[in-house]
Amino acid sequence: MMMLEEVVKANKDFVKDFEPKKMSHLPKKKLAIVTCMDTRLTGFLEPAMGIERGDAKIIKNAGNAAVDRDIIRSVAAAIYALGAEEVMVVGHYDCGMANADPVKLESLMKERGVDKEALSEIDMKEWIGAIDGEEENVLSVVNKIKESPFIPEDVPIHGLIIDLYDGKLKVLVEG
Ligand code: ZN
Repeated sequence: MMMLEEVVKANKDFVKDFEPKKMSHLPKKKLAIVTCMDTRLTGFLEPAMGIERGDAKIIKNAGNAAVDRDIIRSVAAAIYALGAEEVMVVGHYDCGMANADPVKLESLMKERGVDKEALSEIDMKEWIGAIDGEEENVLSVVNKIKESPFIPEDVPIHGLIIDLYDGKLKVLVEG
């Protein structure tokens, strides 16, 4: 069975027992979180932070990196359009992006038919957002958001890191 069929079936069961309710799209806790797309954070990061449905805007990408304008754009939208008053960049140990091998990725992409010229125009390490160290990356993303001319100075940008094994959060930057 394709995952799509499995998801559609799961949704039918879900809807059967679900009590519909209207919620505001504004984050109740006025919080925006920038974090990684790691599968182990799903259903784990939120309870570890005391965050429930409707509480926060959660922006995810590979390695919670700020390699393109999209993270800044989403943080700005959370602040100006949605009322976020605090931002938390939350990294995690054992991140796949800290172990990403740009050379290997490039050859895999070539094998899958990605245009060589397109590949020659990018710095793979930077483009894919491969990181040197998880804590280091949190600090650098915090700085990138802080330094952006589009982010107001009165919004604290915090940096945290979570241990996926025991769920412990460590504050690296108190914004
Ligand atoms: Zn990660």
